[in-house]
Formats: sequence, structure tokens, C-alpha cells
Amino acid sequence: MRIDTHMHLYASADEGLRDTTAYPIVEYGRLDGVRFSSRAGTVEDGLAALAEAGMSYAAVLRSYELPGLPFPPGGERHWPVPPAFPEHAARLRAYNGWLCSLGARHPELLPFVTVNPAVMSGRESAAHVDELVCDHGARGMKLHTIAIRTYPDDPGLRPVFEVAADAGIPIVVHSGPDIRGSGWALPAALAAILDDVPHAPLVLAHLGGASWRDVAAVAERHPALRFDLSEIVNWAGAPNGATADEISALVHRIGTHRVLCGSDFPWYDPADTVAAVEALPGLSARQRDDILGLNAARLLRLA
Ligand SMILES: [Zn+2]
Repeated sequence: MRIDTHMHLYASADEGLRDTTAYPIVEYGRLDGVRFSSRAGTVEDGLAALAEAGMSYAAVLRSYELPGLPFPPGGERHWPVPPAFPEHAARLRAYNGWLCSLGARHPELLPFVTVNPAVMSGRESAAHVDELVCDHGARGMKLHTIAIRTYPDDPGLRPVFEVAADAGIPIVVHSGPDIRGSGWALPAALAAILDDVPHAPLVLAHLGGASWRDVAAVAERHPALRFDLSEIVNWAGAPNGATADEISALVHRIGTHRVLCGSDFPWYDPADTVAAVEALPGLSARQRDDILGLNAARLLRLA
């Protein structure tokens, strides 16, 4: 069984194209020959891309970002209580509702819902996630602390980590440096959540991205942490990326049972990600099967 643990889908082709154009990938430096997806990222596109890659399931996930990506007021590290942008709550709820409706219509699409502490308080967010998991089929969560402009220890996120830990649903968190050097999504800052909520089922996306060198220490310190290979495998050999040999060595050091395969579609096609994982040197057939799907199947309790 093959599972894509990191797919983004959009209600329209325009919306998908807007997102892929708005976020050009710069953190790895320049690399020629990176294969980007030619698909826009609609639901139909996603299903076709999954079928092409021979994948049975995909986690569908995205963060909920405010227009213009505002910062917490007053130069604060975290978002205030009460939330600064409560007028967005209805749209955030509608987005999560849409995700769950996709899961209801397409059993191969697993809704990974999101929260934003600028929009809802920690308590509201936790209650919302709990309801989505219990009544609407949510299977996981996604957070992008760079895009929501806060640190992972934002008090507005803490109750959400607790709810996810209690429900046993994974939380995919974007990991990597940000262009401002704020460190909102550095591996160590994300892993520190586990000091407060030891059972939070975190998946550090992109294997740390351009911060991949920090990942081995973090993985060693927190054995429950998991990682996905999205994007970093498509940028193997880039100036700030890792080579295929380095990715492979890091995956072995972390433990192949802790690593998942995500595509970051529609930036990349899952078939290309699978090919890149299959091309990693030094993995046995069984380790490859684990990474390409069996680890995720266990994590998500998919038989
Ligand atoms: Zn992504």
C-alpha cells in the first residue's frame, strides 16, 4: 500500500495556481531540472495524480492563512487572546468543512484539518478539531507556523496539540527556515512541543527542509517524532538541500519506520516523489515499502 501523506487540493484550478505561483520554492537554492507538477491542484487533478502514482490514500492538508500574512500585534511572539481576526472564523470552519466533505465523497482522501490562533482561541480551536474528528471524519491536522506567523509554543495552539494527542491523530507541521530568520518552523522549535505535550503525534514535513542538518539531533531526542520526505527529495543535490546519499543516511539514522512519503502536490506529482524515494540509495525493499505507505498506514490505522 502506498500513501501520500502531504497533498494540497483546491476548490478551483485558479485557487491552486494562485498558491503555487505565490509560494515559489527558494529555501534550497538554485537547482536545474526540478520537476514540478503541471497540474493545478483540483480534486480531480489530485485523484488522477494519486492513481498515476499507484497510491491508495492521500492526506489532504493546508494551513488557513490570513490575507497579507499579518504578524501578531505589538511585535509579540504569539497571538493575543481574544483572537485578533475573529471575523475569519466562519471561513476557517467552512474550509475544514469542505475538507471533510472531500473525505466523505472520496474515501481515499483523508481530511487533515487546520487551525489558526489569530482567528480562534485555543479553546475554540480545540473544540472545533474535536468535533471534526468525532463527527466529520477528520483524520489528522496540518500547521504551517511560518504562514500563521507564530511559534509552535503559541498558547493558542497548545490545547489543539492536546486534543490531537488524545485523539491519536497526526499533525503534519511544515518544518524549515523562513526568509526572515524568525525560526517559526525550525525542527527544534517544533520538537519542543513534545516537552509540554509528550504524546503530540507530530510529523515534521520536508525532513526539516533546508534545516535538514538539525533533524538528526531532534529525532534522537524525541523518539515519537515522525518525518515526511516531501519536497526535499525533489531538491536532492540543491545548494541548501541534501544529496540523495545524505537523505538516505539521515533516514537510516532516524529509523526508516519513522519516515513517511509525501508529495506536496500540486507543487510536485506523487509519481515523481515515489520515483525519487525509490532512487534513494541503500534502502531495502521492505524499508522502501514502509516509507512509501506502510508506516503511514500504521499511523493512520488504515488496514
Ligand atoms: Zn506542503
